[in-house]
Amino acid sequence: MKPVVAIVGRPNVGKSALFNRLSRKQISLVYDKPGVTRDRITLDCIWKSKAFTLVDTGGVGLEDDSGFEADIEREVAIAIDLADDIFFVVDGREGVTALDKDLGRRLRRARQRIFLVVNKLDSSKQDDWEFEFLELGFEQVFPVSAAHGRGIAFLMDDVSKDWPAGNAGGSEVRNDEPLNIAVVGRPNAGKSSLINALLDEDRVIVSPLAGTTRDAVDVHFENEGQKFCLVDTAGMRKRSKLQDPLERAMTARSAHSINRADICVLVIDAELGAGVQEKKIAGLIQKAGKPCLIVVNKWDLARDAKVFDATADRGDLPSPEKFLGIYRDALYKEMFFLKYAPVVFTSALEKRRLGGWFDAVREICEARETLLPAGKLNRLIEEATKRHPPVRVRNRSLKIYYIAQKRERVTSTTLVAFINNRDLWSDEYQRFLEQAIRTEYPLKGCPLLWHLKDKSAQKSQRESKPKQSRREESRD
Ligand code: GDP
Ligand code: GDP
Repeated sequence: MKPVVAIVGRPNVGKSALFNRLSRKQISLVYDKPGVTRDRITLDCIWKSKAFTLVDTGGVGLEDDSGFEADIEREVAIAIDLADDIFFVVDGREGVTALDKDLGRRLRRARQRIFLVVNKLDSSKQDDWEFEFLELGFEQVFPVSAAHGRGIAFLMDDVSKDWPAGNAGGSEVRNDEPLNIAVVGRPNAGKSSLINALLDEDRVIVSPLAGTTRDAVDVHFENEGQKFCLVDTAGMRKRSKLQDPLERAMTARSAHSINRADICVLVIDAELGAGVQEKKIAGLIQKAGKPCLIVVNKWDLARDAKVFDATADRGDLPSPEKFLGIYRDALYKEMFFLKYAPVVFTSALEKRRLGGWFDAVREICEARETLLPAGKLNRLIEEATKRHPPVRVRNRSLKIYYIAQKRERVTSTTLVAFINNRDLWSDEYQRFLEQAIRTEYPLKGCPLLWHLKDKSAQKSQRESKPKQSRREESRD
């Protein structure tokens, strides 16, 4: 059975435009006059090898034609009856209207999953405007621009996540997008050896990318249906390393690979531990806001060498598991800002413990898709701030009105915090809030990115903008 997605919303919010965007065909009419799309139109579509049926429902609650309104209301009822998932579309430029609230109330009672789609947010100028619609009582909001395609892929990835795979017919469905991974670390940490050990030689395809420098090579491979792309891998090779031994060059190269990656793997030589270079690269990863996995390689050597004097003093070596724990703790102490990154221990030379690498990468992939529902998130923050209120600065204290997750892209978890004054926000308090969030949502390997919004400033900015001009803009 194909899932059915219904598009519901009051007139003129852009339902037809969204329908057209999703179907990629100009079927339903788009016309800047309320109520033009009168009939329910259904269409079979495919998103990334998953088939679904799209239903456009006309419009809801047209005030100037009551007969027509009743028709549309019935259409909506039918759609709600038929659909598995509902896109509830609102106009992000108009703001919340009475009709939206009315429709929202009806939809909240529906058994379907409701995706609140805030349309007409065409550019970064309208960043974070979608959060105003949390008022309608749904756990998340999706900012999109049906006209320009912004946010559509993210919305579709999210809605289709739970749909059955392969129902579009044909061969087995896989995720076609490779996961870009940057393997970074100091020279000689064992990056190339690790990559070779991870690759099942039979399946390796090494492909120099057209248009890149002679050195930079992306290595593609597959493991259990997941495609991987190790980016800029040749940059790690010995030959080029000899030609280019400068630390500066290494850092620049790492920065480039990190920026291209979905996930970064920081390889540390177990014997050397986390030194200046490791911290520098770790800093780059953090600054880029990329998920991170730490690999302690050459574990075979560390295991034998009593790396920690403290443990050696006691005369006998701790059990291997305990030793891992001690090593991990010491590492986190050195790189306290990367505490969210899981650590795996490998021996590329002995090809041991490599399964842990794949497991950790998969875990990070899942973590970065974690949904933080607005209600639960804000209750959690409220409890945390009660337990440990922000310190007062010059007789003023930070107020957090609410925090919401930005649902736009999957590279990292972004939180938007609406607060009274950004000068009162400190790194320390941010760390405390992060800790509180991570006890509930570990978000393994994923950094939390914060956007601060001075609520008062934002409000006045929106209020100074007359509704009419917002509507004018939406027509351009
Ligand atoms: P419907 O009545 O909900 O089906 O709305 P339509 O799809 O007919 O769109 C109504 C008006 O909004 C039209 O003038 C569209 O061009 C405009 N519109 C739709 N989507 C967008 C968008 O993403 N950005 C902007 N700026 N305008 C949009
Ligand atoms: P890269 O410069 O980071 O790419 O490091 P290489 O992969 O070229 O490895 C540097 C040296 O470390 C080589 O001599 C490898 O054989 C050695 N090496 C790599 N991984 C391991 C390991 O897990 N254990 C041991 N004992 N040696 C390793």
